[in-house]
Amino acid sequence: MTQITPQPGIMDIELYQGGASHVAGIQNVVKLSSNENPLGPSEAAMEAFRRAAFTLHRYPSTDHASLRQAIGEVLGLEADNIICGAGSDEIIALLCQAYAGPGGEVIHTEHGFGMYKINALAAGATPVEVRERERVTDVDAILAACGSKTALVFIANPNNPTATMIAPGEVARLADGLPPQALLVLDGAYAEYVDGYDGGASLVESRENVIMTRTFSKIYGLGGLRVGWGYGPRHVIDVLNRIRGPFNLSQAALSAAEAAIRDVAYVDHCRAENARMRGWMADALAEIGVPSDVSLTNFVLARFASPEEAAACHAHLTAEGLLVRPSANYNLPNCLRITVGDEPSCRRVVHAVRQFKNGEADG
Ligand SMILES: *Cc1c(COP(=O)(O)O)cnc(C)c1O
Repeated sequence: MTQITPQPGIMDIELYQGGASHVAGIQNVVKLSSNENPLGPSEAAMEAFRRAAFTLHRYPSTDHASLRQAIGEVLGLEADNIICGAGSDEIIALLCQAYAGPGGEVIHTEHGFGMYKINALAAGATPVEVRERERVTDVDAILAACGSKTALVFIANPNNPTATMIAPGEVARLADGLPPQALLVLDGAYAEYVDGYDGGASLVESRENVIMTRTFSKIYGLGGLRVGWGYGPRHVIDVLNRIRGPFNLSQAALSAAEAAIRDVAYVDHCRAENARMRGWMADALAEIGVPSDVSLTNFVLARFASPEEAAACHAHLTAEGLLVRPSANYNLPNCLRITVGDEPSCRRVVHAVRQFKNGEADG
């Protein structure tokens, strides 16, 4: 009998479920299950990626200086306080590895992003789930859950899958109320969709206990490349760089991301298109009896009358080749998360939900 056993916590991890991308027997599915940019990456990013083919024999940059500089220039941030990772997932993992371990607690919210719990368990720490208030982060509930063991507090603002956010003043109150050993992680994966929002950067700059994570997977349309970054106080960035793999990002990924962030006009276009179709889709769904909270992201969390109705609508949409995301594993069993697609996709999904609501769906 083998005595090979993994570290405590690892066998408690439930595998992350990504968005569905295939339906057996159906061609031309519309994928609205992973919050991807329906318009794809910028032309400049694709050109940079193609050019990277000529230097594939070279190791990539280890300090990511060129990408960090570009991010700093475009967003008005201090490049030395940025760390880049293979998606923001890697930044989340590095934070747990560095700051949370056996005996430590990692706070996440009831409907918070699934990777927080997974990475807390992977580090041997104890995930602590805190309730939300009507699908909105509740600062008082988080502060009440904090104690001498709290190592990290994760909130996504705006959050996935709720699409809601809390005001900067509330986030500041959270940061200021944390115990001295706790670090607040502000996940800004959807920050670019909120007009005039800095993702929490100014809070990072005025505190020693806040780090912001960002990603190229959403508005920049580069989910397939795996590039994310963190912006934090120097003492935290120094710690994370010690455990980060020296070649964690390929040169193709670094170059494409740099071109993407410099293509500000394309990001503005994507933000405007998303806002237009998001408003249209949310209104059209509400008219047919499927309400949602006002979304500040690139998806809508559609609420049904019951878990059964949500599951039946999900089955109908899937049969129509329209892939959306059930949210039962986020404690939201009566909801479906629908990514804002391009105009034809949004029209198709609304049409199919209407069919379902009118009892015209077969099966
Ligand atoms: C999509 C998403 C991310 C992005 O993860 P990457 O690893 O950068 O692709 C991070 N946080 C939240 C809440 C998300 O929804």
